[in-house]
Amino acid sequence: MSEKVKCLIIGSGPAGFTAAIYAGRANLSPVLYEGIQPGGQLTTTTEIENFPGYPSGTTGVEMMEDLKKQSERFGADVRGGIATAVDFSAAPYKVTIDGEKVIETETVIISTGASAKYLGLADEQKYAGMGVSACATCDGFFYRKKTVAVVGGGDTACEEAIYLANLASKVYLIVRKPFLRASKIMQERVMTNPKIEVLFEHETEGLFGDNGVEGAHLVKRRGQADEEKVDIAIDGFFLAIGHKPNTDIFKPYLKLDEVGYIITENGTSKTNVPGVFAAGDVADPVYRQAITAAGSGCKAAIDAERYLSELGH
Ligand code: NDP
Repeated sequence: MSEKVKCLIIGSGPAGFTAAIYAGRANLSPVLYEGIQPGGQLTTTTEIENFPGYPSGTTGVEMMEDLKKQSERFGADVRGGIATAVDFSAAPYKVTIDGEKVIETETVIISTGASAKYLGLADEQKYAGMGVSACATCDGFFYRKKTVAVVGGGDTACEEAIYLANLASKVYLIVRKPFLRASKIMQERVMTNPKIEVLFEHETEGLFGDNGVEGAHLVKRRGQADEEKVDIAIDGFFLAIGHKPNTDIFKPYLKLDEVGYIITENGTSKTNVPGVFAAGDVADPVYRQAITAAGSGCKAAIDAERYLSELGH
């Protein structure tokens, strides 16, 4: 037997919880499934310094716990579980949870976020859990006083490198371009940290080691006249090269861009399926901030509420 609800929210980052707060206050009795990573990506970051209203900063875990409590205060039913299939062919829409339970819902708010990308090297699989990680805050602890490398030149890579520099004895930052893409303040922090060595114009070709990662094979200035092979000795290899939106199960029904982000109607959270809305990183290849995700979660709940009231539900 399937359960019937008015508003189903998939995903528990700032977008999902903000949608739950607004939907709860609009009497939609939202049900929220937390997904693979309860609390979303923020729970794997360190300090959050740029969310308005926290003059001394906060942590991702703290913020997500507060958001969860706040949504429950307004009646959101927050549950563990992963949406494994959907049927958006006709309303009410069907969402299967953990391959078993089916929820029938009048509206869906998709806030499934994005997952860390890997380089695609066979060695990333070979050394998974043995020195390869995409989350410094989850795994950095294991590399106290050791040498690690972080791949990427964006804000995430810089943030992870700085975090790891507090634990490790040395951090290489492997950057494929001759410059960092990160914000100026993060660049400055990286460039002035004595424990971080930035390897510009380096790419990773493979990893080596008998008992887990012991080093990486790099190539400097690939394709140039002075191309050079470089090996570095490391104990940990951290990926920070961006994210892939979690949209695989929605592909048959929703318009996605070439990378897989959900396409929404200009300035709204509306997808191409009436009553199905998208919020947060899953529909945002550009900004991808906690505050913008929260803002879009608010919009999705308002859009869902208006959609239902137009139907007279
Ligand atoms: P970005 O897309 O900004 O950066 C990805 C980085 O990885 C780039 O330097 C890119 O290189 C590199 N990269 C991508 N693919 C490869 C590859 N195959 N091999 C080697 N390098 C690769 O992602 P982030 O996760 O850093 O940031 C996402 C968004 O979140 C951004 O808008 C960022 O500003 C924001 N953010 C903000 C934070 C804050 O304000 N505190 C913290 C973390 C993220 P290239 O430059 O050559 O393309």
